[in-house]
Amino acid sequence: MEGTIVILGSGTSMGVPTLGCDCRVCVSTDPRDRRLRPSIAVEWPQDGTTRRVIIDTGPDFREQALRESIRHIDAVLYTHSHADHILGLDDLRPLTFLARDKAGAKAKVPLYADDNTAVILERIFDYTFHPDSPYPNKARVDLHRLEDSIQVGGVTFVRIPLMHGNLEVAGFRFGNAAYLTDMNAIPESSMELLNGVEIVIMDALRKTHHPSHANIDEATAWVGKLAPRAAYFTHMSHDILHAETELELAAPIRLAYDGLRIPIEL
Ligand SMILES: [Zn+2]
Ligand SMILES: [Zn+2]
Repeated sequence: MEGTIVILGSGTSMGVPTLGCDCRVCVSTDPRDRRLRPSIAVEWPQDGTTRRVIIDTGPDFREQALRESIRHIDAVLYTHSHADHILGLDDLRPLTFLARDKAGAKAKVPLYADDNTAVILERIFDYTFHPDSPYPNKARVDLHRLEDSIQVGGVTFVRIPLMHGNLEVAGFRFGNAAYLTDMNAIPESSMELLNGVEIVIMDALRKTHHPSHANIDEATAWVGKLAPRAAYFTHMSHDILHAETELELAAPIRLAYDGLRIPIEL
């Protein structure tokens, strides 16, 4: 089945332009140098509608959903609990109010997060998750613990453990594609889960070393090991001028940009 990855945001935690910065990337007029916080949508057609899974809801989620005319979400998967990946959870509210099951009854939107992430989501958004919360307009969501894989509308999303410095985070594989953000190491057991992957979206923060993100050279080396048909770098800082950096990269690597749509097979 044909599906699509939509790059909702290709930027690092501070976004690009970065507040208070006048560097050449932050003042660039190339729209590909404007990067919202990191997130993707995975979409596929089913029963005459678009099924959609969002991976991470960062602080720009509302802007991203408006830009891409997102009105329906089947599930949200979380990679980890850092602010740039979770702070848009509350902006799911109006979309969760619209959620219906197949019979047309009101339904909750499932969220999936590993144990560490779920505990933090429950603390930050306690007015949403606490069973005694009296808040009437809380998001209509169900928070599930992320297992090794989950099914959404018949599509399997496999959790890919990755190392983000000392923190284990979740990457995801779905069909012939994988989303591997906020990481600087892929454990050997996860390399097996990525066997045969054809399209990879990968963290490549900047050109210089960072203790918990892959830089361009490290990400390029990981792409070499995975040997996909196409690789797109994401979670990029204002170190990276799109047009210039892309000329420095060899096939099959490209830079992602906000709004990019990548065809995949699910
Ligand atoms: Zn991040
Ligand atoms: Zn800058």
